[in-house]
Amino acid sequence: MLALLNRHIAQPFFSWKAGNHLPRRLRILEQRQFDTPKVIAARQLESLREMLFHAWETVPFYRNRWQAAGVHPEDVRQLEDLGQFPILTKQDLRAHAAEIRSFAYADQEVFRKTTSGSTGVPLTIAVDREAMDWKRACTLRSDQWSGWRRGTRVARLWGHAAADRGSWKARLRRAILDRESYLNTLDMTAERMKEFAETLIHRPPGLIFGHAHSLYLFSVFVRKHFLGRIHPDGVISTAMLLHNWQRTAIEEAFGTPVTNRYGCEELSLIASECGEHDGLHLNADSVFAEVIPDATLSTEPGGGRLVMTDLLNRAMPLIRYQIGDVAVPKSGNCACGRGLPMLKSVTGREADYVLAPDGRLISGISLTDHYATEIRGATQVQLVQESRSGIRLRIVPDERFDVSSRERVAILSREFFGPEMRADIELVDRIPQEPSGKYRFCISPVAVEHIRAMGQ
Ligand SMILES: [Zn+2]
Repeated sequence: MLALLNRHIAQPFFSWKAGNHLPRRLRILEQRQFDTPKVIAARQLESLREMLFHAWETVPFYRNRWQAAGVHPEDVRQLEDLGQFPILTKQDLRAHAAEIRSFAYADQEVFRKTTSGSTGVPLTIAVDREAMDWKRACTLRSDQWSGWRRGTRVARLWGHAAADRGSWKARLRRAILDRESYLNTLDMTAERMKEFAETLIHRPPGLIFGHAHSLYLFSVFVRKHFLGRIHPDGVISTAMLLHNWQRTAIEEAFGTPVTNRYGCEELSLIASECGEHDGLHLNADSVFAEVIPDATLSTEPGGGRLVMTDLLNRAMPLIRYQIGDVAVPKSGNCACGRGLPMLKSVTGREADYVLAPDGRLISGISLTDHYATEIRGATQVQLVQESRSGIRLRIVPDERFDVSSRERVAILSREFFGPEMRADIELVDRIPQEPSGKYRFCISPVAVEHIRAMGQ
């Protein structure tokens, strides 16, 4: 009943007040997702050309670069033609953030989205209102692929106490409209998790949403103390790579499939699994994605660096933005019938690689997968590489961790990196989080430097 009231009265009211026409946009997007791939590609080409002309006319930074490279928006006759345009790196974005703003939006209201990034230097992106509203509708569309019904309660596990932020009006809106409850993942003690689990039993959520590893930690707790008592319609894992062992634990705890999603602060939602859980549909109404094949970064056919173009944000156009992640494209149709293009997987951040002494790059996601599942008594593992010939494994042990666990670490490290790599073990109480509340399992400034040098 409350869900119906929320969906049919509260939501249209707030949308009307905000002037953002969210329900109408959502209806349009829900229809478009079932268009054929050809129709979707034609629409992307049109949006892409509009964005390129807009940038050419109102962002001198792009015009200067493109003139120097000998390209013009007129050259883009099909989507593949964008490949001639220069790449925008994260360093470019940091160095030229102010110049990438469109002067046509100088006097307009913009939203600021800040990302901390792996270097710790904050980066702020300006997003115009129209783009923000469409992006919000795109995210809602994908939220529902998880099984969640709009208007039912949402439980979030997030890196800041978002519930405490904003004006009293914003908080009221969240309480009535979004019906949200939060677990602050910077404060995930057993006591806080118990309180949160009890809240969710008392007021069942339609959706549980959070960082992959925070969801995992909470699901381990729920499995132990409250198994079978929390049954959301959907669970969405986002903002971090989702390991299979994490997915299994979360699905056991909540008895519902996990919907893996990929996005970033700069672009919002990029791709999401649908109910088939067989790859991720790209959010083609908001972004255009290119995967630049690179065999040193991905062993899968076609895998490589992900380069993104925002089709909506005119206040600060991001065109061919190299986001720093590695992905594998997927061809063919999805059984769900949606025509949105697909990624097979996002296999890692460029930052999540380790450099072996012999010069090979090894994907952090597969390394941490092995270390986390094959070492007896290791409940969490973080790999830190401080030099080319040495790694440190931070391990959170339980009572089963013993001398055989240490031997296993030595064996695995020799297998992956060869005999020259030194592997030290550091036993810790917990893996420290980043300020955003995310966890990183593989930290190698050595590999990041190597990859950067390769790209030059
Ligand atoms: Zn699908």
